[in-house]
Amino acid sequence: MRNWDRSRELFEDASRYIPGGVNSPARAFGSVPMHPVFMERGRGAYMYDVDGNGYIDYVLSWGPLVLGHAHRDVVAAIQSRVRLGTGFGTPTELETELARTIIDAIPSVEQVRLVNSGTEATMSALRLARAYTGRERIVKFDGCYHGHVDPLLIKAGSGALTHGEPTSPGVPDAVAATTRSCPYNDIEAIEALFAAEGEQIAAVIVEPVAGNMGCIPPQPGFLEALRSVTERHGALLIFDEVMSGFRVAWGGAQILYGVTPDLTCLGKVIGGGLPVGAFGGKREIMQLLSPAGAVYQAGTLSGNPLAVVAGHETLAALSEPGVYEQLSERSERLSWGILRAAENAGVPIYATQVGSMFTTFFSEQPVTDLTSAQACDTERFGRFFVELLRRGVYIAPSQFESGFLSTAHGEGEIEQTVAAAEEAFRSL
Ligand SMILES: *Cc1c(COP(=O)(O)O)cnc(C)c1O
Repeated sequence: MRNWDRSRELFEDASRYIPGGVNSPARAFGSVPMHPVFMERGRGAYMYDVDGNGYIDYVLSWGPLVLGHAHRDVVAAIQSRVRLGTGFGTPTELETELARTIIDAIPSVEQVRLVNSGTEATMSALRLARAYTGRERIVKFDGCYHGHVDPLLIKAGSGALTHGEPTSPGVPDAVAATTRSCPYNDIEAIEALFAAEGEQIAAVIVEPVAGNMGCIPPQPGFLEALRSVTERHGALLIFDEVMSGFRVAWGGAQILYGVTPDLTCLGKVIGGGLPVGAFGGKREIMQLLSPAGAVYQAGTLSGNPLAVVAGHETLAALSEPGVYEQLSERSERLSWGILRAAENAGVPIYATQVGSMFTTFFSEQPVTDLTSAQACDTERFGRFFVELLRRGVYIAPSQFESGFLSTAHGEGEIEQTVAAAEEAFRSL
């Protein structure tokens, strides 16, 4: 029987010094009847906590670790780089290489700027879109999460949703008033919004595969409709691919679905586990950025060589032929396996999967937007989480998060996970 005594002690200690005991709310076990587990190390598909328990990991640092923990080439690249110094505050050749790799993979990105997080990427993309269009309003979708940017913390997903504050206090009314939020996958709602105030809308920002209210794929025609309505009204379309970029396909969701945005935000996978974000798009728009143009955006540690080399090495491994096919195929097998396990145990679930993103929703109905996601039995999900944890499987501690697979997850891990899931479903 597993125990988590040391984790409990560490959490009590952390809570004295750090608000809620965590440095990011999604790490708290908000909807789970337990304290967070403190991890110590990871290798491949596994991570190990401070009490010596091992887990097959489907959180993967919330998406970045697409090659699994402590991948040999990534570790070696960081090690050889760190000996040369940790950064210079000058341009380095590596930054151009990472930029070129991103641009080669994503045709809509003609120029790109590196930042340190997904939040910085979306924040900067909004400023740029507003400057380019000379308009102020921003449209997002209920349950999508784009980082903790003031105008985007309206009906937000991820931790904001889990902890019951999807619209954050502290955002000035004047800022919140510039944001509109529509239901995901609802073409009529967005058309109606544009019909009413299209002239004032600078941009629509969307997760082309929603991953922060659980994994919810775009329904056929949804992304195309966003492309068309923004074009007709002179607004920009921003794909927030911080999660989906280089995760659901080489490049990202825009390659998978063949819809071309004006601006793209990246993060997570492109940093290979270290802090990297990026935003890019049409040259004409990107040229507005300082020092080429007047829109200010900067970062002391942007393009940090250690982070960039980790990202570069990760993308190099992902560019090998067949990597994404295998990731998708294994993810599909896992998703089907969990669905069958639930059926065998008589527990109704709704399973989603796009590439190596997946979610097990405790719902009898299809989950296509925030309303249907919120109708899930989150209390039952919480118990399922703990039952999996007991059996050495670590999924995100919230119904409103996506699961991730890495290239280190083999057939054995998938079989083990499906078996653990069936036991967990039976014990609910
Ligand atoms: C994680 C995430 C962000 C925020 O990235 P951070 O690096 O946590 O700031 C933004 N958008 C999406 C879609 C994300 O999944």
